Amino acid sequence: MVLSLSDITHDFGATRAVDSVSLEVRAGEVVCLLGPSGCGKSTLLRIAAGLETLQHGVVALDGRTVATPRGPQLPPEQRNLGLMFQDAALFPHLTVLENVTFGLGHLSQGERRERARSMLANLGLAEHEQSYPHVLSGGQQQRVALARALAPAPGLMLLDEPFSALDARLREQTRDDTLHVLKSSGAGTLMVTHDPEEAMFMADRIALMRDGRILQMGTPAELYCQPTDPFVVRFFGEVNEVEAVVEDGEIRTAFGTVPANGLADGTAVQALIRPEAVRVSPVGEPGRHQRSHVVVSRLLGRTSLLHLCVHGANGEEIHGHSRMPGVFLPPENQPVMLDLDPSQVFVYPRAH
Ligand code: ATP
Repeated sequence: MVLSLSDITHDFGATRAVDSVSLEVRAGEVVCLLGPSGCGKSTLLRIAAGLETLQHGVVALDGRTVATPRGPQLPPEQRNLGLMFQDAALFPHLTVLENVTFGLGHLSQGERRERARSMLANLGLAEHEQSYPHVLSGGQQQRVALARALAPAPGLMLLDEPFSALDARLREQTRDDTLHVLKSSGAGTLMVTHDPEEAMFMADRIALMRDGRILQMGTPAELYCQPTDPFVVRFFGEVNEVEAVVEDGEIRTAFGTVPANGLADGTAVQALIRPEAVRVSPVGEPGRHQRSHVVVSRLLGRTSLLHLCVHGANGEEIHGHSRMPGVFLPPENQPVMLDLDPSQVFVYPRAH
């Protein structure tokens, strides 16, 4: 285990920023701390780094305790870590190559240059090694920061929103390069992000946090397909939310019917229906029965988003969304039939 955080709690005055969190990162694994602003992600990362004094719990790196509240706390520079933040924070008066060799004082000059050059080549920066940081784009600067952090071969990389200052295209390219380099380095990685798609792109496992606690931890597929809480479902994207009561082992909603999965008849439930669970087809297709009409259709690229007006059991109109693969753009006011893919519908007993 390259990082083990056990029962970490941290207060800032009256604010509990981190609340009883335990978490492990294995060698070669990318773990993302995901959650809304203020949920404690950065504080937890800073505790792992030694940038925040530990108040409660234990931090261990490579099986060795490096911080306890009453014992000595190893400073960041003695923890064999690579750090990377939103701001690349390169040394402006040093060239790219000098920035990367900076932390390699323990090697001979030849070895330093060789190690740095190979890191820069892996990140597509070979021709920039004599440049100064200010002439590089934001994405290139982040890649130099990554090369600098990885050059001393740390056991653990700690990344805090490393791509958030980049625009969308550059962000995709930079995180793709970063993932490949991290994976080939063999280091364990703990990365903070508030962007669920970024976490799914980067992570072997995601820890979804709320109010200082880990609400659910698992692979991206586990969090997306087996969310244990409505907050987890909503965090991964907009959903249609309806209330219903279990009848004959089924949950009948205006969007379609799904099995109640063992919930007793009469249970009041909330159903969270992902737009991709709402399948739309022309009126008259056999096996489809929920009737509605299209308010407006929009092509979003790989998918089409349909705004629907759905007719409820009592004649009421409910507005909702369907996301269909590819180009699927029925005209406004087109009557359509709906049914549901139950694998993307999540049902929870309603809180009273
Ligand atoms: P963000 O994505 O906005 O950075 P986060 O999930 O990383 O959010 P933290 O920065 O860890 O959250 O903050 C958790 C809580 O602790 C917040 O309520 C924040 O206001 C508070 N906090 C963080 N750092 C300090 C500090 N140095 N002094 C006082 N309160 C702090």
